[in-house]
Amino acid sequence: YGAKKRLSVVLLYDPALDSSSAQTLSLLGDLRRALEHGELRLYLQPKVALQAGDGVAAEALLRWQHPQRGLVPPMEFIPFAEQTGFVRHLTLWVFEQVAALLGQSGAREMVLRVSVNLSTRDLLDPDLSLRLGAILARYAVDAGSFCLEITESAIMDDPQRAEAMLNRLAQQGFKLSIDDFGTGYSSLAYLKRLPVNELKIDKSFVLGMQSGGGDAQIVRSTIDLAHNLGLTVVAEGVEDAALMERLRAMACDEAQGYHISRPMPADQFFGWHAGPGAAFVAAP
Ligand code: C2E
Ligand code: MG
Ligand code: MG
Ligand code: MG
Repeated sequence: YGAKKRLSVVLLYDPALDSSSAQTLSLLGDLRRALEHGELRLYLQPKVALQAGDGVAAEALLRWQHPQRGLVPPMEFIPFAEQTGFVRHLTLWVFEQVAALLGQSGAREMVLRVSVNLSTRDLLDPDLSLRLGAILARYAVDAGSFCLEITESAIMDDPQRAEAMLNRLAQQGFKLSIDDFGTGYSSLAYLKRLPVNELKIDKSFVLGMQSGGGDAQIVRSTIDLAHNLGLTVVAEGVEDAALMERLRAMACDEAQGYHISRPMPADQFFGWHAGPGAAFVAAP
């Protein structure tokens, strides 16, 4: 028995592996604690109409109020959470926070719809649609008050399963959006089959519009493509007034970016007013 025990210790001991898996375990433990001890924060960033007629929407963006590290941005823990599968807990937390907000009286007069980001792991969870449905029922809100944002790369991880799940979510009444459009490797022929409502042009193209390296042409053709497919098109990364005006002139439907507002803690969102550049000004 002693020899066997020693052998397994030898086999398991790989210093490189050891330190990285120890780090993984501790970050995973930290994330669990974050969820259980209320360290996660829901931020909302407005999305405004550039053409007349629509109201203000918002995107839910996750932050982690870490006791030592301060406010941690999602890129420092979401990719890790995706690798470990823990992201599914984070998604449900975000979705439930948004459902609770939308379930409050008067919320729907302030915001048309809230977008929630989904990861590959969410899309491949066969129970996703049931889990979201249970939360909707608990807060008495409609699926149509939500837009689910999925990146091209999340879909392309397993296109067949993703397509099946997207069809289910669309049937359930959710609006669907392709996030970071143009950065993935999906084919247009494939995207055309998906039941999506919206394309979000990645901010790298929007921010590049000023430098004349072809990004403005990419943005223009994406807007035309979206409209030809009957989709709404949103530009993210709108950092200044000139960009916003160019996008409006290109018939882009909606804009999101620092020029309009940075993401803000969810409880501040309902006191926020769109500036004069937006087609719609939220009522007080
Ligand atoms: P995303 O879904 O593409 O979200 C847009 C990101 O662009 C946000 O970064 C937002 O703060 C940033 N942004 C908005 N306007 C501007 C602008 O004018 N200029 C610039 N430079 N950036 C702008 P954030 O909040 O750091 O989130 C980064 C990414 O993390 C998100 O990209 C999304 O992929 C992921 N993420 C955030 N929250 C969640 C979540 O709840 N679930 C999942 N699965 N992913 C999330
Ligand atoms: Mg997004
Ligand atoms: Mg995006
Ligand atoms: Mg992005």
